Amino acid sequence: MSTGYVYHELYGWHDTGTHAGLLPADPRRGLQPFRHFENAEAKRRVHELVVATGLVDRLTRLAPRPATDEEILLVHTPEHLARLTAANETGGDAGDGGSPFGIGALDIARLAVGGVTRAFESVVDGEVDNAYALVRPPGHHALPDTGMGFCMLANIAIAARAVRASRGVGRIAVVDLDVHHGNGTQAVFAEDPDTLTISVHQDRVFPPNSGFTTERGTGAGHGYALNLPLPPGTGNGGYLEAFHRVVLPALRRFRPDLILVAAGFDANPVDPLARMMVTASGYRTLASLLLEAAVELCGGRIAFAHEGGYDPVYVPFCAHAVIEVLACVEQPFEDPFGPNFDNQGQQELQPHQSAAIAEAEALLADI
Ligand code: ZN
Repeated sequence: MSTGYVYHELYGWHDTGTHAGLLPADPRRGLQPFRHFENAEAKRRVHELVVATGLVDRLTRLAPRPATDEEILLVHTPEHLARLTAANETGGDAGDGGSPFGIGALDIARLAVGGVTRAFESVVDGEVDNAYALVRPPGHHALPDTGMGFCMLANIAIAARAVRASRGVGRIAVVDLDVHHGNGTQAVFAEDPDTLTISVHQDRVFPPNSGFTTERGTGAGHGYALNLPLPPGTGNGGYLEAFHRVVLPALRRFRPDLILVAAGFDANPVDPLARMMVTASGYRTLASLLLEAAVELCGGRIAFAHEGGYDPVYVPFCAHAVIEVLACVEQPFEDPFGPNFDNQGQQELQPHQSAAIAEAEALLADI
């Protein structure tokens, strides 16, 4: 097996500035200056772990290129691109007031989109068997006319459309594991019956009032958006059940030509922005199931693009486990936090989680 791997040092230079977590620092409100939750560390440390353990030697490095205006406009409005272009000289916000960026950030965001596109192209071309794009800023909340939720450009949606345009890929399934709703990707493909978007997330975290099972796509796309909101506290057992009862059956019904994964690691037990309990071993299992589904359904063609995950200490072990699965590493690197996290109470499926999964299960017939 060969696994493509995208990373660029500039991804760590995207500057979200001084914040109190996700709010602007403001002494008048008691908001002490600190970091933005979406800072470089979690992702940079993923890359450093991949290098330090030698995993990088098992990967095929793919160099990202900047996405062109033409590619960005496959998804975004000219107005959104014009705003980002103007703010590239000064720094600004991607559109929702919660997505700050520094000078030159559009250049880095172009490189993130281009990195994801490079990964998808390499898999479709057979240059590599599968791929992981470790990019920043993230993309799955960005809408055609605005950035949102730390996202400037819709990395996966743009790259999916670009590879579809250049390579003629037919049916694409996007599985979003980020703990927040993949609203942007869902919105871009809402009317498209050739693109199945599946989002597994914590119920009503971000965006507010988004990601319900009732959001199912529109027009010809009805049935091809699938949301699986899970209760807070869901761990490895609940996610595994969700995969077996909803995600994998949905993929089998859809029969994609290519599977894309929005790899967010903020469903881990110590993330500052959510309350789930998926551990590195849980992510390892989920990635294995997705890889097996890809082998069964589309010749193994699967590519992952990194999204959220905000604990800089633990996220690296989760992402490392996923990349090991893609590279078919026989002797996985041990998660040193496993003894603390893997056996916490209620890691196994709980009845109220099973009930939430049943709601999404009932929607499979429309695919
Ligand atoms: Zn997230």
